[in-house]
Amino acid sequence: MPSDRVVLVTGGNRGIGRAIAERFVAEGYRVAVTARSGEGPEGTLTVRADVTDAAALDAAFTEVEQQLGPVEIVVANAGITRDTLLLRMTEDDFDSVIATNLGGTFRVVKRASKGMLRARWGRVILISSVVGLYGGAGQVNYSASKSALVGFARSLTRELGGRGITANVVAPGFIETDLTAVLPEATQAEYKKNIPAGRFATTDEVAGVVTWLASDDASYISGAVIPVDGGLGMGH
Ligand code: NDP
Repeated sequence: MPSDRVVLVTGGNRGIGRAIAERFVAEGYRVAVTARSGEGPEGTLTVRADVTDAAALDAAFTEVEQQLGPVEIVVANAGITRDTLLLRMTEDDFDSVIATNLGGTFRVVKRASKGMLRARWGRVILISSVVGLYGGAGQVNYSASKSALVGFARSLTRELGGRGITANVVAPGFIETDLTAVLPEATQAEYKKNIPAGRFATTDEVAGVVTWLASDDASYISGAVIPVDGGLGMGH
């Protein structure tokens, strides 16, 4: 269903975020993306911001508000991995992943919620990971940052649910992006053996779920965790 609501996607210059932004553009939304480098896809407004920097994010939101209007839908997608086994994990490996994936979500959603409260309408969509609930060896930092998004969305649902705002989590499995391209062939084949669908997903298969969550069809869904993982995390 076409809509001209204003969307902001963090990390919209590549990967899953870029596919999400493209899909929103195709459905008629007014779309802004944050990027540290590069540009968002055609038809989007690119604003510069690092999600670990609250002041830069505030300025980016102000630019979007001036050019497109208040942000009605926010997709907290920007994220990083710093995988290594616990005993080798440094304070910086841990802190940087938490500061980007969890702290970044906090900063972005807090800033977006101001306009949503005023409008008494909003959609908050957090990009987590199957690893958040399923776990992953060498991913204590990443998994902790992603499972925390579930508590985040559910608390937000309790706090803002009465003001027309929904908050949901999308938990992708293995998706074909730069993040998974760095995995050795043998590792990729091993992972595929455990995925009932037998393959990684395309970014568009995640994007379609995100735009659906933003649509009127998903108006009564809040605090949900929607897996897009080909069955990998079933039961978690
Ligand atoms: P990519 O590595 O392809 O892209 C990551 C995006 O996040 C980039 O746009 C990057 O910007 C941005 N980003 C990273 N750190 C920051 C920061 N501090 N401030 C602003 N932007 C930042 O990753 P994916 O597209 O694969 O992943 C997107 C999301 O999906 C992440 O949250 C990831 O954890 C999650 N995910 C991915 C899966 C996969 O299989 N690919 C599976 C499950 C979840 P820049 O280009 O400037 O670095």
